[in-house]
Amino acid sequence: MSTNGNDVAVIGGGLVGASIAYGLARKGSRVVLLDEGDIALRASRGNFGLVWVQGKGRGRPEYAQWSLRSATLWSAFAAELAEVSGLDVQHENKGGVLLTLSEAEDRQVRALLAEIGSSAGNMRYEYEFLPRARLEKLLPGLGPGVISGSYSPHDGHANPLILLRALHRAFVRSGGRYRPNYTVDSIRGNADGYRIEAGGEALECGRVVIAAGLGSGRLAALVGLDAPTVPVRGQLMVTERIAPLFKVPSNLVRQTGEGGLQLGYTAENAGYDTGVRSDMLRDIAWRCRTAFPFLDRLRVLRTWSALRIMTPDGFPVYDESPTHPGVYVAACHSGVTLAAVHAFVIPDWVSGRPLAPELGCFRTERFNVQEAA
Ligand SMILES: Cc1cc2nc3c(=O)[nH]c(=O)nc-3n(C[C@H](O)[C@H](O)[C@H](O)COP(=O)(O)OP(=O)(O)OC[C@H]3O[C@@H](n4cnc5c(N)ncnc54)[C@H](O)[C@@H]3O)c2cc1C
Repeated sequence: MSTNGNDVAVIGGGLVGASIAYGLARKGSRVVLLDEGDIALRASRGNFGLVWVQGKGRGRPEYAQWSLRSATLWSAFAAELAEVSGLDVQHENKGGVLLTLSEAEDRQVRALLAEIGSSAGNMRYEYEFLPRARLEKLLPGLGPGVISGSYSPHDGHANPLILLRALHRAFVRSGGRYRPNYTVDSIRGNADGYRIEAGGEALECGRVVIAAGLGSGRLAALVGLDAPTVPVRGQLMVTERIAPLFKVPSNLVRQTGEGGLQLGYTAENAGYDTGVRSDMLRDIAWRCRTAFPFLDRLRVLRTWSALRIMTPDGFPVYDESPTHPGVYVAACHSGVTLAAVHAFVIPDWVSGRPLAPELGCFRTERFNVQEAA
């Protein structure tokens, strides 16, 4: 066999690729993880760190279900990563709160959650608008500008940077090979599988997973898959550290394991511009200090932006190439939340099992309805 001993090559070493690569390696596959390197656009290094279910899945109950499944698997996933990598990813699953700051926002969130809840069928989709006193217990320092807060026990958070490091370390400790600075240019079929080329180098493997974030669309097109992704910029900031305060994260602020308060976040169509804009940061600061007026007294230590990987309908993409069997694509905008299913569930599919029926709606054919029909 001319697969160079590689059962699978995973292209993209961000959270999605690293989760799938680790999941494959822990099942005994011989996996090589190929990554462009540190200059790349990496959502995995700039995100908010929520493991979040609330509000996800409008119009696509399968997505609510998928997010919930991952959130449910997350504790076992974090425990396994701690054991294999020796790193604590600071996962907490005590729930999370969706705060609103105006009557209009409150109405929108109530309608959104009711709609998702009613389309969830038998799925356990729990949330509850809490009375003020209970909200203040979970989130001390809440200001009068908060209109409502919906608590869901499914939500939580983790440290996304430690998660990425833990996945890479666990992958290598499970027998995986990591190749940084390896920017894949082409994927071609050969007698035993696939030949992947990067610069002047080539590598052979049996199967391929394209999980290259914003680079996935171009690579997927090489194997006949239409998996378009667009960047959506998000800006965040973090304050100096304070003593442990918040019991749970919210959509506006989360306290990191180190004590800093991470304030988020924008969603902007700014192309591939990774700059930070002061007017956007002012909006974040305004919303967060309306929710928690004591933030006025804290210093902001760092601001940054990162590019989300957004599909045209905002839902994940999982598909296998119709022209290149054994080449798969995986892309999504919630790689922290979905890390557990990417490590524990998706590898079965990449190993040859059919895609579970409830994930069929995430195939790429939905972007080209005419052709699919
Ligand atoms: C501001 C912000 C806040 C967010 N908050 C959350 C949150 O709270 N919870 C949550 O679940 N998600 C959140 N996300 C989303 C989450 O960060 C992403 O879903 C996740 O990081 C995507 O991981 P990825 O591996 O697909 O992409 P990336 O992290 O972008 O990694 C893609 C990798 O592919 C590599 N690559 C690209 N092209 C090639 C090539 N040709 N050859 C080799 N390698 C290549 C790159 O080097 C890169 O390392 C947030 C994102 C942003 C921007």
